[in-house]
Amino acid sequence: MKHQRLPLVLIPVLILALCSLPASSSGLTPAKAKVKIEKEKQTALDWLSRPETVSAFGKISDAIWEYAELGLQESRSSKLLADTLEQAGFTVERGLAGMPTCFVGTYGSGKPVIGLLGEFDALPMLSQKANVPTQDPIVPGAPGHGCGHNAMATAAVSAAIAVKEAMDKYHLPGTIKVFGSPAEEIVASRPYMVRAGLFKDVDAVIDNHSGERLATGYGRGGNALFSSIFSFKGKTSHGASAWAGRSALDAVEIMNVATNYLREHLPISYRMHYIILEGGEAPNVVPDKASVWYYVRNTDERLLDMYERVINCAKAAALATGTEMQPVRVISAIHQTHSNKGMAELLQKNIELVGMPAWSEEENAFAKALQKELKVEETGLPTTVEELRPPRNDQTGGGSSDVGEVTLVAPTASLNFPGRVPGSIAHHWSAVACTVGTAMHKGLNAGAKVIAASAIDLLTKPTELKKIRDEFEAYIAKNPYKPFLPADAVPPLDLNEALMNKFRPLMDKAAEIKK
Ligand SMILES: [Zn+2]
Repeated sequence: MKHQRLPLVLIPVLILALCSLPASSSGLTPAKAKVKIEKEKQTALDWLSRPETVSAFGKISDAIWEYAELGLQESRSSKLLADTLEQAGFTVERGLAGMPTCFVGTYGSGKPVIGLLGEFDALPMLSQKANVPTQDPIVPGAPGHGCGHNAMATAAVSAAIAVKEAMDKYHLPGTIKVFGSPAEEIVASRPYMVRAGLFKDVDAVIDNHSGERLATGYGRGGNALFSSIFSFKGKTSHGASAWAGRSALDAVEIMNVATNYLREHLPISYRMHYIILEGGEAPNVVPDKASVWYYVRNTDERLLDMYERVINCAKAAALATGTEMQPVRVISAIHQTHSNKGMAELLQKNIELVGMPAWSEEENAFAKALQKELKVEETGLPTTVEELRPPRNDQTGGGSSDVGEVTLVAPTASLNFPGRVPGSIAHHWSAVACTVGTAMHKGLNAGAKVIAASAIDLLTKPTELKKIRDEFEAYIAKNPYKPFLPADAVPPLDLNEALMNKFRPLMDKAAEIKK
């Protein structure tokens, strides 16, 4: 079948990389090598340091970058990742929590259970050629990986297999799990995965996100969010004798005017944005159907009040236009992230152990060319790791991640790993241009080393895990988890289907031509 084309090509590379060879040298810089590294950790780091490992997982990341599949349409990306785990000896369950592309790969048995999160979805409208420093789409209007998610589940999968190497060699008790998490760009998998009980027995979780630096932090971050579609039903009539009709599009427009006035009266922690999904098909037919998709973001405490006021804007719009407001469709609803300090401190220790990758002249030259095009400082790629990031106190908005739900059911912290050019813009062609190629391969490999080393610490140091668990239990005792997601919400499997069906053949054709 056509969709198996790239995975099949990759299989020989994978087999080569996944078979257990004797450990090579540490792969760390000589300065770092002076630090005493536990033998279990060393085994995992050695496995990840092998050039064939770096290259095999680099190829997986690039393949997912090329697939550029939107949320809940990630059939190829999910299969490639799940197959890779299965070939390495993991037990893989697929199609979980009502999502065909959600999977969990498990290795080992008993306690402790350490979870690794991994995302793999793309964003619409961002198609861009690899490592080209000017805007140049592969297929105009098609999706692209503008947030580096192609490298993220890849980092988690490679880290998990490295941990397995150490578990096998030293007969370590415990379980390592990879949570293949679809649709993060529409924040739509983790609330459903939590609801399905997938994290029930998990003692601690390591999340990762690709970025510009090797870094981590703790505390509260991002925004809680309702992602909801508001639809209105009106009556058609001739556009030139519109008194017989009731326009659903008018309702959408009035709702948007009302929410835009609402902004003035919201605390500045809010963020709110929308797109019109449906607004009629011709000016001479009054639209009897229209809908608008909103992201309503605020702090955990302020979200519900703000959401209710947005719903009131929709009700007012229906009343004003004589249309009917349809039941609100909640796509997803999530909390802010509450990252565990003990876990972040553990990640930080391993960040300092692993250090930054050595970038090639070519990688730096591309970074500088992209920075020049974006009119930002031409610094190239960073060479030092970051210090541990304390929480922000300002609560003035920002993005959201559905990892927030996981942070409230298991102690979790997120690792940022490098590869993306500093100054490139997330959710923009410039990020797509640089989340592929050798710099990203090295960056995701450095990330995988930190994840694997930290997971091994959690498996082998019960006092470390207890400290992290105690902090989590104390937090949850005061802030018990109560989902924002309505009980009747279902994963939006249909949301990106039409877009993906439109662009997939065009993207496949472009990939074929490139070969
Ligand atoms: Zn992202």
